[in-house]
Amino acid sequence: MIEEKQPQRTPISELGEFGLIEHLTKNIELKNESTKYGVGDDCAILDFGDKETLISTDLLIENVHFDLAYVPLKHLGYKAIMVNLSDVYSMMGKATQVTVSIALSNRFPIEAVEELYEGMHLACKLYDVDLIGGDTTSSNLGLVISITSIGEIDKGKSVKRNGAKEGDLLVVSGDLGGAYMGLQVLEREKEVYKVNPNSQPDLSGYDYIMERQLKPEARKDIPKLLNELDVNPTSMIDISDGLSSEILHICKQSGVGCNVYEEKIPLDPTVISTCEEFNLDATTVALSGGEDYELLFTISASDYDKIKANPSLSVIGHMTDASAGNNLVTRAGESIQIKAQGWNHMG
Ligand code: ADP
Ligand code: MG
Repeated sequence: MIEEKQPQRTPISELGEFGLIEHLTKNIELKNESTKYGVGDDCAILDFGDKETLISTDLLIENVHFDLAYVPLKHLGYKAIMVNLSDVYSMMGKATQVTVSIALSNRFPIEAVEELYEGMHLACKLYDVDLIGGDTTSSNLGLVISITSIGEIDKGKSVKRNGAKEGDLLVVSGDLGGAYMGLQVLEREKEVYKVNPNSQPDLSGYDYIMERQLKPEARKDIPKLLNELDVNPTSMIDISDGLSSEILHICKQSGVGCNVYEEKIPLDPTVISTCEEFNLDATTVALSGGEDYELLFTISASDYDKIKANPSLSVIGHMTDASAGNNLVTRAGESIQIKAQGWNHMG
């Protein structure tokens, strides 16, 4: 997973800013009808016809959001795009375009930027998204990446955080906690490397959680699946900060409470075994870990039959009156108030 550094280091000055942009964007093939014009002028031109447009922006800063000591640049590029597409899918939208702005320090050779863009282009290709522009500048503070994602949706069809009703079921896609445990393993290996730079990272057996951390996949498939099943979620959010914080967003903005059942929270076996190894509680990790980029949503109880057999979806609880509070019901049957961070199962 941790790749050899590129031996070739061509300074960016060899191409200049405009040459670099041209080099990074020349092979882009536009895929979406809504993209009328992409890279190359002062603006891209988009035409969504009678659809509504969804827009979301994220900023990623070196050593705050990522650590180049263990994140290969190609993965970083891929993940940076995923994080942004996830926001569009969490409105039930179709992601169609991204813009990418980068600030580069002079320790970045062209080959490094190429690697970053390889990951971005791959993500755009696999998710049918057009890279339509951006900005390029220099930085004294390490690498900064800002991505804006744009998507489309039929008028009135977007799903916000505020529509959950008492009696609705709370559903999550995929499984949780993997990205956080992947990070724990990477950080452990970084510490080992600091002590002994000749050591090779031992990541065998951790493939699933490594992928979850380094190469997450946004859930493009879930809005499509829900449309096919004829399920209209009443609220939806993507899981970037951790399950508990996202649950609280839905509850607060919808004016409801919830009961979430610990035993229903979906966990991969690798997450459970790695938690045991690190002496961490898997439920706490799922609740507070973050970066899983799964979707959390509520549906009317009458839609339960449509989703119950689906292996990608788990019902983890239901919404209550706000006065009942936000509760986690533990395996022992105890109710504990859900907090945004730091709920401690051991305590
Ligand atoms: P301006 O002077 O108007 O900011 P630029 O020279 O920065 O124009 O950009 C020229 C074109 O290249 C524009 O279409 C812009 O969107 C695109 N672009 C600039 N930087 C990037 C980048 N890092 N990735 C993709 N496209 C970029
Ligand atoms: Mg510019």
